[in-house]
Amino acid sequence: MLSIKNLHARIEDNGQEILKGLDLEVPAGQVHAIMGPNGSGKSTLSYVLAGKQDYEVTDGTVELDGEDILELGADERAAKGVFLAFQYPLEIPGVGTMTFLKATLNAQRRARGEGEVSVPEFMKLVKKGADDLGISQDMLKRALNVGFSGGEKKRNEILQMALLQPKLAILDETDSGLDIDALKVVSEGVNKLRSPDRSFVVITHYQRLLNYIKPDVVHVMSKGRIVRSGGPELALELEKKGYAEYGEAA
Ligand code: ADP
Ligand code: MG
Ligand code: MG
Repeated sequence: MLSIKNLHARIEDNGQEILKGLDLEVPAGQVHAIMGPNGSGKSTLSYVLAGKQDYEVTDGTVELDGEDILELGADERAAKGVFLAFQYPLEIPGVGTMTFLKATLNAQRRARGEGEVSVPEFMKLVKKGADDLGISQDMLKRALNVGFSGGEKKRNEILQMALLQPKLAILDETDSGLDIDALKVVSEGVNKLRSPDRSFVVITHYQRLLNYIKPDVVHVMSKGRIVRSGGPELALELEKKGYAEYGEAA
């Protein structure tokens, strides 16, 4: 499980504190949604959890299954099973999608001291994952994310997640820019990966995604902290009332 206590983090460049004493507990097997106004620090939280370099943790603890992960680099965290799906996926013109997927899987295996995945084993894993997500062979042959529609990029991320089998998956506004069909496919992909030993943190500005990915708990983030937690009904309330009371201009 994920346990965050009194997390404070600032931007390295300008010293601005963004996370201001954030507490969050996500038990294994649960899906927790984090909602909140723009600028409340949701993406910063996901970057800090993934170990991105531009942020400095100044106080607090983050434990995954009882182990402090703040001292680990991004690669080591990935090896421990932390997965972050980016709000804006990278386009990498020179790199084929299959090559990229294989490289991320092998990076994880190497960091775990395991051997590289064999070609037949990899092909089998990719085929299964791609079929589940409605990803075509043609798409897998193209360069990573180049010319992909919003929906194709997100499917590709979920495929990456399915291959890596994370312990903690963080989805940062993975619903942004998706039409309803793509949203359903992505949600089904996530729902298939729900399991008793995997936790999800689903960050979203809108309630819509949570119609498809049913959260166990919904948290509201405002000004760098979790300020309220409740059941799925909290998301519906936010949808109706907006974030005005949490510091966003109406
Ligand atoms: P959210 O995802 O909730 O919209 P963010 O975490 O993206 O919020 O941003 C929180 C605040 O931190 C914003 O004011 C944003 O401008 C600022 N911020 C985040 N990352 C950086 C960065 N690398 N450099 C400068 N400002 C940043
Ligand atoms: Mg934002
Ligand atoms: Mg964000």
